Amino acid sequence: MAKRGKETSVLIIYTGGTIGMVHDRQTGSLVPIDFKHITDHVPVIGNFGFDLQSVSFDPVKDSSNIDPDIWVKLAETIEKNYDNFDGFVVLHGTDTMAYTASALSFMLENLAKPVIFTGSQLPIGLPRTDGRENLVTSLEIAAASKNGSPVVPEVCIYFDNELTRGNRTTKFSAEHFDAFNSPNYPPLALAGLHIKYNENLIHYPAGTRKLKVNKSFDNNVAILKLFPGINRHFVEAVINTKGLRALIIETFGSGNAPTHEWFLDDLKSFIRKGGIIFNVTQCHGGSVEMGLYETSREMMAAGVVSGKDITSEASVTKLMLLLGSCSTREEIIDCLGKPIAGEIS
Ligand code: ASP
Repeated sequence: MAKRGKETSVLIIYTGGTIGMVHDRQTGSLVPIDFKHITDHVPVIGNFGFDLQSVSFDPVKDSSNIDPDIWVKLAETIEKNYDNFDGFVVLHGTDTMAYTASALSFMLENLAKPVIFTGSQLPIGLPRTDGRENLVTSLEIAAASKNGSPVVPEVCIYFDNELTRGNRTTKFSAEHFDAFNSPNYPPLALAGLHIKYNENLIHYPAGTRKLKVNKSFDNNVAILKLFPGINRHFVEAVINTKGLRALIIETFGSGNAPTHEWFLDDLKSFIRKGGIIFNVTQCHGGSVEMGLYETSREMMAAGVVSGKDITSEASVTKLMLLLGSCSTREEIIDCLGKPIAGEIS
């Protein structure tokens, strides 16, 4: 796909989601339909002073059906069109948008152009839809440049007046237009009458390294959310899952877990067999601090890796990518503990 000669160009990639959904006549459920349906309801996008092109997934998807193969397809669409566009807007269902945005942030190494995810809580065909504003402002952000360089060369989510780093963002409301937030990193921009960018918080690539797209994922991971009274058989069933290479434990508060002997023995034996355990807090904001309480000290001694202030979405996508692309356990553990795309502080 080539640029049509106008100064700035943006590619819209439509994957599906509520923004383009209508009620199925037979079942009454919402189902995604084609991209033309969206443009028909937002004719104003034809009036932008820049070159706008679009490509649609076929079939389009409810985001609950998006998986690593689709992340690869999406990254390849960006890779194929990377030199021909100044920015990208990805229309995506909100349910797993934070997972896809996190995955893409890890896949697109040396990214130097905006990749802005957006969608809506109400379909574009409804009078009170939030989709129009989300789409129009995302396009503005994807096209924004200063001194010839993009203002936000990152994978982000734009939703309800806020632009946040994709791998810091989480969906927290199935009801409000303000559906996402970034509990541990401030917004990169706020949209009111003007779009105000927090340039000191945006990551700008040093130098001009070529885009490299990492495409190997290994989904031999599990997330174990702790709760008071958790059953030993359940924990052991998860840990003994066939082929499991890494386990994320969603712990209490600042990374705490029960100190029952059986629990710690199970974790230690998984690590002894070469497994990786990543400690991520189930709190919405804040950070794991292993060793702060007695209830995390032993896990630290056993070799459990701290997820610090990573989101659950970023932790699972990062782990799948590292398992798929690193050659040694040491390399995985080293990358897990430090930011590779601004996902931890
Ligand atoms: N189920 C929809 C999806 O994630 C919800 C949405 O787009 O808001 O595809």
